[in-house]
Amino acid sequence: MINEANFHPSTELLQKFAAGTLSGGMNVAISAHVELCELCRKQTSELEAKATIDWLQTPADDNGAEYSDMIANIISHPQLNKAEEKKSILSEMHMLDHSVSLPKVLAKAAAEGLVWKKLGGGINQAQISLDDETQCEFIYMQPGSQTPVHKHQGSEVTLVLDGSFSDELGQYGRSDFIMRTSIDVHQPRSDEGCLCFAVLDKPLTFTKGIARLLNPLNNYRFKKALSQNTNF
Ligand SMILES: [Zn+2]
Repeated sequence: MINEANFHPSTELLQKFAAGTLSGGMNVAISAHVELCELCRKQTSELEAKATIDWLQTPADDNGAEYSDMIANIISHPQLNKAEEKKSILSEMHMLDHSVSLPKVLAKAAAEGLVWKKLGGGINQAQISLDDETQCEFIYMQPGSQTPVHKHQGSEVTLVLDGSFSDELGQYGRSDFIMRTSIDVHQPRSDEGCLCFAVLDKPLTFTKGIARLLNPLNNYRFKKALSQNTNF
């Protein structure tokens, strides 16, 4: 089932996505949202078409260096036709008493095998390696769980795959794409439980209480996530 998303990537992010200039982790997060969101799918197609036209209109001498990037971009974002769109969301992840359909790009990443770790407070995390710049993970918040209050040294992107969660700034459900930056302090909580995919480009920092003692561990986990990505 595809719900209409209420929160989407910014136009600037979609432009970078269309131009193929994002990190692997961010690329997968946006690609997964685009699979779930018709609005962003349309916008991305238009941006890709525009990027191609811009490229064709640049003088021939300038094209050489960008050519391989553009081809790589076209290959990595094949346009989905209607039949393929329907087929694209097939794989499922089993959570507690039900299964969740995953966007194709995430199903592919998850197919490598997920190792779930309990982080305490009803939060579970399974990291995957997508590039050497970001920490990428599935997060499962059990019903009634909440994370410690935290802020980000860089940006954190969260894509909701199932269930819902809320923080000081809103309430988010399936397909929603949420971006938090270093100016935001928040405390996600989930009453019904929530499965998300998250991408961090810097470790997060807990800001309150005893959870602050875990900050060195966050830095360590972030560095470790990057060091496991040497294949990329
Ligand atoms: Zn969207």
